[in-house]
Amino acid sequence: MSIYADVQKGPAIEVFALTQAFKDDSHPNKVNLSVGAYRTDAGVPWVLPVVRKTEISIASDEAQNHEYLPVTGLDTFTTAATELVLGSDSPAIKENRAFGVQTISGTGALRVAADFLHTQLNRNVVYYSNPTWENHHKIFSDAGFTTLKSYRYWDQNKRQLDFKNMVADLDQAPPGAVIILHACAHNPTGIDPTQEQWTELANLLEKKKLFPLFDSAYQGFASGDPDRDAWAVRYFVQRGFELFTCQSFAKNFGLYCERAGNLTVVQKHAATKAAVHSQLTLLIRGQYSNPPAYGARIVSKVLNTPELRKEWMTSIQTMSSRIREMRKALRDKLVALGTPGNWDHIVNQIGMFSYTGLNKNQVDVLINDFHIYLLKTGRINMCGLNTGNIEYVAKAIHAAVT
Ligand code: PMP
Repeated sequence: MSIYADVQKGPAIEVFALTQAFKDDSHPNKVNLSVGAYRTDAGVPWVLPVVRKTEISIASDEAQNHEYLPVTGLDTFTTAATELVLGSDSPAIKENRAFGVQTISGTGALRVAADFLHTQLNRNVVYYSNPTWENHHKIFSDAGFTTLKSYRYWDQNKRQLDFKNMVADLDQAPPGAVIILHACAHNPTGIDPTQEQWTELANLLEKKKLFPLFDSAYQGFASGDPDRDAWAVRYFVQRGFELFTCQSFAKNFGLYCERAGNLTVVQKHAATKAAVHSQLTLLIRGQYSNPPAYGARIVSKVLNTPELRKEWMTSIQTMSSRIREMRKALRDKLVALGTPGNWDHIVNQIGMFSYTGLNKNQVDVLINDFHIYLLKTGRINMCGLNTGNIEYVAKAIHAAVT
């Protein structure tokens, strides 16, 4: 009898299962709208030209070696990442109240954040939006949080933010609860609060003593402007909140597999920094000892070199504007086809994803009859669309809806 005999097989992870099904599908018109990765108009992954150039220069630099990084990562990277999200003129940076630790991309930042909040600050309650990126629940539950609740976010009928109920649900959260907020380009809905709504949320979180944890996986990728995409985080910092921001460089640098991330800590006073930093160091030491250098070196060099940073800014505009073009093209085609319903939400949403509002049956028709792969919630990755397949996808959605 094996010691493993009683291990139960766990459920498949939907997004990876769909990508495998797509790979196994031999249909000539198949389309993958599931996984969250950028594709060019030719339907292929894109290495940002500035990233390619930088990796070549790093690889040919004789002074580089493969020594371990410090436990909390590459300083030039964490400083640049912290400045990117908080703004280089941030009061928290100037007053030495903010710092970053390098993490295993955005997921790792969330996990280190969750572990710190649970073990150091005794937090057990977390609230995330309904719907949200499906990993939020797992990360916080694996970290030992015992009360995992959702707040309403999406109004399926109006296909917009359900702000009134979002506020009503957060108003019920107990003091000290961790509130996960998507910094921009909410995954999966593509709908963000307006600046007025962020202000109202800040009032509520302040009044109820809730802890904001910003998940920032799309800064710059969403609007093409990193400052604009960081508005909410910077507003909360300006209001005097202590908070965490979990940054990913997967999308905005196209460094998915390189796992470059940063956990930014904002405190009220510089005096707590040494202790907080030391506890984060110990947490990381026990988990994986120190982070990988490859992606962090690239991000650091690009963000810290003005000409390279300018090139990066051009690339994020290329990506975000191609997505906007695809949103418009899809909406226009559905309108031209006379597909029942209002499709304006597709252009009103921002970022990589669109929550189409398609139901489970309609999703099944798209997958089974048209070989178009998307999540069962109706979420599609806009980057999977291109001038070569958009007509096919629009007609398939039309057929699924009618
Ligand atoms: N948060 C959100 C909302 C995301 O969409 C993603 C990427 N799918 C992540 C975090 C983290 O991704 P990664 O670990 O690849 O940086």
